[in-house]
Amino acid sequence: MSEEMTSLLIVEDNPADMTLYLRLLEDVEHGFEHVECLSTIKSAKKSLIGKPPPTCCLLDYNLPDGSALSLLESLQSDKGFSACPIIIITGQEDTKSAVRLLKLGAQDYIVKDELTPTTLLRTIRNAVNQWKLNKQLEQMALYDSLTGLTNRGLFLEKLDQTFNESARYKHHFGLMVVDLDKFKSINDIYGHQAGDYVLQMVAKKLLGALRSSDVAGRLGGDEFAILLPETCEKSAHIVAKKLVATLSFDITWKNSIIPVSPSIGVAMYPSKAQSYKKLMREADMALYRAKHKGRCQYVAYNECGLDEEDESERLKDLIPKALQNGKLQIAFQAIVDVDNTDFYAVEALTRWQHEGRWVNPIEVINIVMELGLDMEFHSWLLTQSLLKLKTFQKDKPGLKLCLNLPANVCHNFNFTNLIEKACEQYNVDSHDVILEVTETHLMPQPEKARECLELLVNAGFNVAIDDFGTGFSSMEYIADLPCNILKIDKKFFLELEQNPRNYKIIDAISSLAHSLGMKVIAEGIETKSLSLAARDLKCDYLQGYHLGFPVIDCEDWQDFISRSNTNPNTDA
Ligand code: GH3
Ligand code: MG
Repeated sequence: MSEEMTSLLIVEDNPADMTLYLRLLEDVEHGFEHVECLSTIKSAKKSLIGKPPPTCCLLDYNLPDGSALSLLESLQSDKGFSACPIIIITGQEDTKSAVRLLKLGAQDYIVKDELTPTTLLRTIRNAVNQWKLNKQLEQMALYDSLTGLTNRGLFLEKLDQTFNESARYKHHFGLMVVDLDKFKSINDIYGHQAGDYVLQMVAKKLLGALRSSDVAGRLGGDEFAILLPETCEKSAHIVAKKLVATLSFDITWKNSIIPVSPSIGVAMYPSKAQSYKKLMREADMALYRAKHKGRCQYVAYNECGLDEEDESERLKDLIPKALQNGKLQIAFQAIVDVDNTDFYAVEALTRWQHEGRWVNPIEVINIVMELGLDMEFHSWLLTQSLLKLKTFQKDKPGLKLCLNLPANVCHNFNFTNLIEKACEQYNVDSHDVILEVTETHLMPQPEKARECLELLVNAGFNVAIDDFGTGFSSMEYIADLPCNILKIDKKFFLELEQNPRNYKIIDAISSLAHSLGMKVIAEGIETKSLSLAARDLKCDYLQGYHLGFPVIDCEDWQDFISRSNTNPNTDA
């Protein structure tokens, strides 16, 4: 007998059928300690919602006070829905409807006329096992395995829901983000296991300090979040103060005493934040201020006086961590041939999602440069994008990769070295790499830039001038540069219809580039008519949403192609 097969509920109004099921079950060692027999939907509901759930429920399709359908529908809107696996018993004529019931959450169905003792028992066993497995998967998908708290995804879902409900019913609510102080050194000094233990204790203390209607979640690492529904600002401050006290404690670990303390950021609804994501950002900015004020305290967003400048400071803390922890990502966008729209290249675009929002990539790159992390960043970018190019080339031989080179890199011989080495390491042909530089980046030291680019061109790389037409360089200077591709800035195409003069500008750039032996890539091709215009204007290659959106996290070439024409909504 299986230990967990404790009770079976059978809901059937026909006494003859009920007797049949009981007899069939008697014929096999079913293992249930207790079998409960009921005959109405009403009593089934009571049994499934109102009291400890049975291990499994056999439910007749048609009952005197309603159908299995109505029961499943009502259970779905109820917490008791997932209390136990439900198997529908149908007549031959009801099998179609039974499939609908599966969609509503029934675990399985069996046809009355086809019942044998073994099929009945096997169906029950399978349903119970499958149901348990689903529960485990659900648990893993929604809850943090270390602490058992709601995980980030589920927490944000609940926050979103509370945000919308509070807007509708004009409720106030509080949101707190808690981050442990100097937690890294706990891991470093006492080991990861000690760190894990601290996280578990913190989760336990958090739950002990909150009301049952509050929601506590682990966002990741040593970061937790708390939702205080229907709470005013004054009460939220009281809770925050209490949590600072509760979460400041000493833990004994193998004869050592480990001190733990939290910093907390508090945000309140209503506020200026128009979305739950923005409210989350407010709580995070307040947390940042609490850290900077010396830790082990809470700070409320509306009292912390943070502005965009502080935000940029905060990013300077976070971006190096994101780079180090592999949290930066790369999106690839297609560049296609104007004649046959075959894929010519993909451009690698850096992306970083933080607190549910995509941070402006220019901001990310600028901060990387400002902090002098250019070498680390480019090593990462080269490794990731060259590896991906190799994967793509398995299905699409000859595909090229466009990489953007930022300003100081155009004047740095170490960097030219880095690119060559990376291509060697990953066995990428330099002819398959297009290095994009912008006019403005070349200008500060045009001679040095020319030398660097010459080195790269001599090593076989392609060089493209990006965003052409927005800087101040003359065609003469460009003609003299070792480059073979011009990318016309997207603003010329995006404003083509409002500004017919752009036709003439693009026409002139394109003819000149061709006369210098360069190819032309048109950027900003977002509609079919722009694509036709670019063809009229003799551009060689096209890039823009009409041809493909940037695709993040693609597995392989097929994955890239299948997602390239779907707006990923990443404001990429
Ligand atoms: P601060 O006071 O500025 O928050 O300093 P900190 O050292 O706590 O820095 P931060 O919050 O950025 O560090 C979080 C660390 O948590 C980083 C990582 O090593 C560690 N960490 C992340 N997940 C886990 C985990 O599941 N278990 C353990 N033991 N450590 C983790
Ligand atoms: Mg921390």
